[in-house]
Amino acid sequence: MNPAARADRRPAAPTPRPAWVLEKLIGVVRPEFRADVLVFDPRDPVFGGPACAVAGCVRTARGRGLCGAHQLRWRNQGKPDLDQFTATTSPVIASKFGNGPAAPVPPSECQVNLADLGPQLRLEVQYLLQCRRDDHTAQAPVDTVARMVRLLAALSVTSLLD
Ligand SMILES: [Zn+2]
Repeated sequence: MNPAARADRRPAAPTPRPAWVLEKLIGVVRPEFRADVLVFDPRDPVFGGPACAVAGCVRTARGRGLCGAHQLRWRNQGKPDLDQFTATTSPVIASKFGNGPAAPVPPSECQVNLADLGPQLRLEVQYLLQCRRDDHTAQAPVDTVARMVRLLAALSVTSLLD
């Protein structure tokens, strides 16, 4: 396509965002999605996932049925028999703060921080996440959602409609 044809498709001026969009979103986004920091249950069927196979570990399983930390431990031990490893390894996971008691779920696996988004964009993302929860058609892991939010925050847009 030549540049002139592409230019013809663009509107002459930015379309003003109707105020009713914002009002409607305020009316439909439920309180549990209205926070700046959304916290999801690691077992949430949309934003979380199945539990790590290690008994007592509360983190979400990633590859091979293990959370990221237990998968790393399994690799560091030379990838022993997975069933035996799962049955015998400790649920306690070392972190930079020392060995935690029942491996708390790190914020990166259960929280999405929307504070860096402007008010309209934040409300739109909250609405999208609420729709994803209600649809139940596909998973949206917290780390993927958080990555999307960071990308949006880095853009100079105030709305997904821009
Ligand atoms: Zn684990």
